[in-house]
Amino acid sequence: MATLFTRIIQGEIPAEIVYQDDHVVAFRDINPQAPVHVLLVPRQEIPGVAQVPEDGDHRHLLNAARIVAEQLGLKDGYRLVINQGESAGQTVDHLHMHLLGGRDFTWPPG
Ligand code: 5GP
Repeated sequence: MATLFTRIIQGEIPAEIVYQDDHVVAFRDINPQAPVHVLLVPRQEIPGVAQVPEDGDHRHLLNAARIVAEQLGLKDGYRLVINQGESAGQTVDHLHMHLLGGRDFTWPPG
């Protein structure tokens, strides 16, 4: 069965797509944690970082993040987050990178 994010990528579930290429689709998070909160998702259904193959669409995530950050004018900086597994708060088992921007962030994260 297709993952939630594959269903978004295929247009079955609506989302505001801000970028897409042959490997990655980026859309606004439904529950934004910052003025800009975009999810970058490899088209390939990889459950998480723990399952990434040697080669695959995940290798294009950082390039897509840079392009989206430039497109959205995040000149002052931004944060990229990947939650892996339950203790990190991963809720969707399709690898995704959060791109957060438009406000200041603290460290360490919660
Ligand atoms: P995780 O907690 O797995 O790192 O991140 C999953 C993210 O997916 C959450 O930030 C959540 O708000 C977002 N999300 C869950 N369901 C949907 C949805 O149907 N549409 C969109 N655009 N985002 C979703």
